[in-house]
Amino acid sequence: MFDILSILPGKKKQTSSGWTSFNAICCTHFGHRQDKRMRGGIKFDGTNWSMHCFNCGFKCNFVLGRTISAKTRSLLVWSGIDEQQVKRWSLESLQQKDLIDFTQPKKQKIKIKFNEHKLPEGEIVDRDNPLHKVYVEYLLSRKIDSNDYPFLITPTEKGRMANRVIVPYTYKNKIVGHTSRFLDNKIPKYINEQQPGYVFNIDIQKPEWAVCIVTEGIFDALSIDGVALMHNDISSDQALLLSTLNKQLILVPDRDKTGLSLCDKALELGYSVSLPNWDVDVKDVNDAVVKYGKLPTLLSILQCATNSKIKIEMQRKKIGKAGN
Ligand SMILES: [Zn+2]
Repeated sequence: MFDILSILPGKKKQTSSGWTSFNAICCTHFGHRQDKRMRGGIKFDGTNWSMHCFNCGFKCNFVLGRTISAKTRSLLVWSGIDEQQVKRWSLESLQQKDLIDFTQPKKQKIKIKFNEHKLPEGEIVDRDNPLHKVYVEYLLSRKIDSNDYPFLITPTEKGRMANRVIVPYTYKNKIVGHTSRFLDNKIPKYINEQQPGYVFNIDIQKPEWAVCIVTEGIFDALSIDGVALMHNDISSDQALLLSTLNKQLILVPDRDKTGLSLCDKALELGYSVSLPNWDVDVKDVNDAVVKYGKLPTLLSILQCATNSKIKIEMQRKKIGKAGN
């Protein structure tokens, strides 16, 4: 009905995860400083969109078939749209409601809910900012493009906190948690704020993808566009959430004892398991992507995916031996 990306003023930066960042226009209306760090994020599917400001916390959305909310109206007005025009769009949108209800058969919906979560104040990692170089290079060393995910950093904080990359967790485009990955490699490497049953990177799984690669770690998931369990178990709530994807699920565990014990659980749940013939020094998906590249890693995962318990047992023995 209207193209929000062309309505919002200023330059925009698209990321492959589907977020577009721009200088948010909400903050000054709430007593915050003007955003000059592209901290506004918007996800737009051509019709519906949702916007989140990583600076002042403002958020709003548009869903065809519903009226335009007061917050969304504010955003449009701040962008220079006339109030009357917003009213007309709101009415037009509502008129589409019956059409949408008719064309989209109602699916049996499983209710999954995560509480909203407040992120630490930080800056979006910017490749073009020389002060961000160390963070950009860390991500690159793990074969992850800093533009591909709305990573945050807090370089002005003291001590370890300056030396971390924050990875926001989203569910249905809402912020529901985050992890901090510290770059100094001291223990703990990660500090997580995470809700039970959450599976990382579930939002970027595209409807047209036939498979979903299930990994253990955040960077495994980011480097192969898969999801991460973030521990070496598949909880029943996580299994429920993954089942809503309606895809072939392929578990690629870490090459250690606990990782390999995950295989049984995955088979019980009807997932495929893949243990490709990677070199001994490759301990997880991210190692493989760093060593072989994303596409060869993906191909090896798909080629080795199996539901056969016997095949997996053989692979597991082989890896166990090589590791000794
Ligand atoms: Zn704002």
